[in-house]
Amino acid sequence: MTDTSTSTPASDTAPTARRLLIVGPPGAGKGTQAARLAEGLGIPAISTGDIFRANVSQSTELGVLAKSYMDKGEYVPDSVTNDMVRDRLAQDDAREGFLLDGYPRTLAQVEALDGMLAELGTALDRVLLLEADDDTVVERLIARGQESGRSDDTEETIRHRLHVYAEQTTPLVEVYEGRGVLRRVDGMASIDEVSAALTAALQG
Ligand code: ADP
Repeated sequence: MTDTSTSTPASDTAPTARRLLIVGPPGAGKGTQAARLAEGLGIPAISTGDIFRANVSQSTELGVLAKSYMDKGEYVPDSVTNDMVRDRLAQDDAREGFLLDGYPRTLAQVEALDGMLAELGTALDRVLLLEADDDTVVERLIARGQESGRSDDTEETIRHRLHVYAEQTTPLVEVYEGRGVLRRVDGMASIDEVSAALTAALQG
C-alpha cells in the first residue's frame, strides 16, 4: 500500500522559537503582547518593570532603590538588574523557554545576559522589535498614567524615558540584527493584529 501521508517530517519543520526577548520603546505595547504570547506558548513572561513594581509596592529594599530611578525615568543600575534577572532565569519554569520583556536594555546588560545564558547552555533564539512612533507612545502613556496612576507615566518622565531608550536601548537592535535573530513587528496595528504578527515572527 502506498503511503499517502502528507505530514512533514519533523526535521523539515522549524521549531517555534521559545527563548525570546521583546524590545521596543515605552508604550509600544510590550507588556500586553508579552503576556499573550507567553501564555500561548506556555512559557513565563519575565518583565523587569513588573518585578521592580512588585518590589516597590511591597517596599522591599530593592523596591525603594528601584523607585528612586524609575520615577525619574532613569534605568535602574545594571548590577542590580542583572542579579535580579539571573535569579529569575535560574528558576525551574524558565528551563524550557521564557519571554524577556524590558531586559536587556543596555549593551552591558546584553553582555551579562549572554553570560547567564551561556552558563545555562542556551541562547536567545528570537528578538522581537515592537515599533511605534513617539507621538503615539506619548499619547498612550499619558492615557495609561491617568487611568492607572503609574507614577512614571507623566509627560515629562515619558519624554525622558524615550530619550533614554533612544540613547541606551536602540544600539541593541543592531547587535541582534547582526546575530540574525531580530524580527520587526509594527506596534501601531490593533492588539490582535500585533499578536498575530508576533506569533508569525516566531516561525521559520
Ligand atoms: P517602559 O518600557 O514602559 O518604560 P517598564 O515597565 O518596562 O516600562 O519599566 C519601567 C522602569 O523600570 C524603567 O523606566 C526603568 O526605570 C526600570 N527598568 C525596567 N527594566 C529595566 C532594565 N532592564 N534596566 C534598568 N532599568 C529597568
